[in-house]
Amino acid sequence: MFTLPQPFSSPNSGLTQIADEKKGLPIVHMAENSKILSSLLMAVYSPAITSMPSCLEDAFELLNAAQKFGMDDTTSLIRILLSHNDRTPLITPDNAVRAYGLAKFHSLAIEALLAARCTLHLPCSLEFYAPNLRILDGASIYELACYRARCRDAVLGCIEAARSGKLPSADKWLAPAPNVDGQSSTCKSLKEPGATPEVPTWWDQHLERLAEGVKEGTRHPSAKTVVNLVALQAALDKHVEDESCEYCRRVYVRREEKFCTMLEDEINDAIQKVQLDLPW
Ligand SMILES: [Zn+2]
Repeated sequence: MFTLPQPFSSPNSGLTQIADEKKGLPIVHMAENSKILSSLLMAVYSPAITSMPSCLEDAFELLNAAQKFGMDDTTSLIRILLSHNDRTPLITPDNAVRAYGLAKFHSLAIEALLAARCTLHLPCSLEFYAPNLRILDGASIYELACYRARCRDAVLGCIEAARSGKLPSADKWLAPAPNVDGQSSTCKSLKEPGATPEVPTWWDQHLERLAEGVKEGTRHPSAKTVVNLVALQAALDKHVEDESCEYCRRVYVRREEKFCTMLEDEINDAIQKVQLDLPW
């Protein structure tokens, strides 16, 4: 701390009047304000505290200070307190773009990635960026756009894997139901009759529509936006009604929820693996 560069003091600021020592003790001029330093010292001396800055700007400045001083344990503690207490999460879709810009400004890689993930629930348009253009430079906007494009590709990869029955737990969804006397043992309208696994056409077409929405940008690249149990149920109901397919009425109505959970998990895992291409 004593080796840190000191803030600039102009001859007229009055700061030069402050002695470098007071009563034999050294005076260190800090870049951080008293509120940030107070929170930092509280985190050091009272690890059980739960009161941390609720303001995005203060919280990120506190994290930045802890990182700057090499206080790894305190940095981890602050991150835990900011993300695992009972209040509203620090980074939300509503402030995600601002959080991304602030995290970039303070070189907070973890928070930048969390904020970038939160933007996946938002449209990518000028209106999306405009209120935060003062804190986002062109390079940051480009990095965020590239990240969203990689997430879009990851989501599309999951949907395509689902369409071809290649998701790891697809057998729970696509496995044929046991034969029951007098009842059809397969869907009346398979995508490729005789292929394994058996993929019903209505289900494949539903997933194809989801993929088109993601490609066109009408669906944001997030599990919450893509996976829609109600839409899947509507597609099944239409197929059962139009084609009188008793097999799908009997079998898939009990598998819809499981499939949605599986696809949501796969998409979330895929997005978790996408990283920001940060310059530091
Ligand atoms: Zn069917």
